[in-house]
Amino acid sequence: MVSSNKQHQGRTALITGSTSGIGLGVARAFAAEGANVMLNGLGDADEIETIRASIESDFGVKALYSSANMLSPDEIAGMVAEAEEAFGMVDILVNNAGIQHVSPVDAFPVEKWDAIIAINLSSNFHTIRAALPKMKDKGWGRIINISSAHSLVASPFKSAYVAAKHGVAGLTKTVALEVAEQGVTVNAIAPGYVWTPLVERQIPDTMAARNMTEEEVKRDVLLLAQPTKEFVTIEQVAELALYLSGTGASAITGTTISMDGGWTAK
Ligand code: NAD
Repeated sequence: MVSSNKQHQGRTALITGSTSGIGLGVARAFAAEGANVMLNGLGDADEIETIRASIESDFGVKALYSSANMLSPDEIAGMVAEAEEAFGMVDILVNNAGIQHVSPVDAFPVEKWDAIIAINLSSNFHTIRAALPKMKDKGWGRIINISSAHSLVASPFKSAYVAAKHGVAGLTKTVALEVAEQGVTVNAIAPGYVWTPLVERQIPDTMAARNMTEEEVKRDVLLLAQPTKEFVTIEQVAELALYLSGTGASAITGTTISMDGGWTAK
């Protein structure tokens, strides 16, 4: 049974890249608060259907899935239109899909650069462009961009990712100013290292780029930057996304909130 005191009862949350990692955790957190969700991301069709069905059965909400590729502006527009047709509008938009590639800049594959800029930055523009008109009409909306500590500081060998995430910080500020009087807040969450498949997958490349073992990469590269020496958890990021969507956060807009174990304090 769905209780009526959940904070997002009757709302719709669209979360890009929610078949894995942070996005999936955020989607489940919004569903737990009563929101219908539009899932999105890549992966095995059967596994995605299991994820979708478990959200419906665990939380008593509607969960749809869009296979829109964040490389495609048309597919992104189609995904937002599908959510609006099914649920009326997208009340909460979480731009989370992201990829990484680690390489010295002068050896950085051009197609990887283009894909990272498209998925990690331009897709945020395309979802916002599509979802914002109905938020403005309603006078309420929440846009949360999952950026990174790399939206504030850099690390070597991650030129495309760092450039894209700095771009997300700028987009966040700009859109926030444009809709500041219309009940829509726009913020970014900047996690440090969160233990997810994205981080796991970059370990082999970092081992190669820096000639290190896996343990050395974890200790001397990843958690070296993070004073707490702990990975951020998916649940912690999801809790901050819920907070930013709540009434208590209506004065928070245009900002990037760090959740990085002290990394960017240095
Ligand atoms: P992940 O690899 O577990 O999940 C990424 C999601 O994006 C998946 O659902 C994947 O299918 C989806 N995706 C990738 N390419 C796509 C495409 N072309 N079209 C549609 N979906 C696509 O990664 P994660 O660690 O959960 O990362 C999620 C976000 O958090 C990313 O934006 C990442 O940059 C950011 N982030 C992660 C960390 C970390 O340490 N894990 C730290 C800071 C920021």
